[in-house]
Amino acid sequence: MSDAIDIANDLTQSRLEGLIASQRAALRQQGTPECVDCDDDIPTARRALCPSATRCVHCQTHHEIRQRQGMGR
Ligand SMILES: [Zn+2]
Repeated sequence: MSDAIDIANDLTQSRLEGLIASQRAALRQQGTPECVDCDDDIPTARRALCPSATRCVHCQTHHEIRQRQGMGR
């Protein structure tokens, strides 16, 4: 009986560790103060909403359009 509980505890522990690791990875993904494409400052409001942003809204939109076109081929 205690074996089943141990296995369940181990499973819960490894799932928790995986969850924590992925959240830490997301936190490490920092944005940049300037757009990587056009070097314009990324507005503070955008960085507050999307801390991992590396492009201004304009360049991000173009980047996503290019990505979508690339995937269509
Ligand atoms: Zn830009």
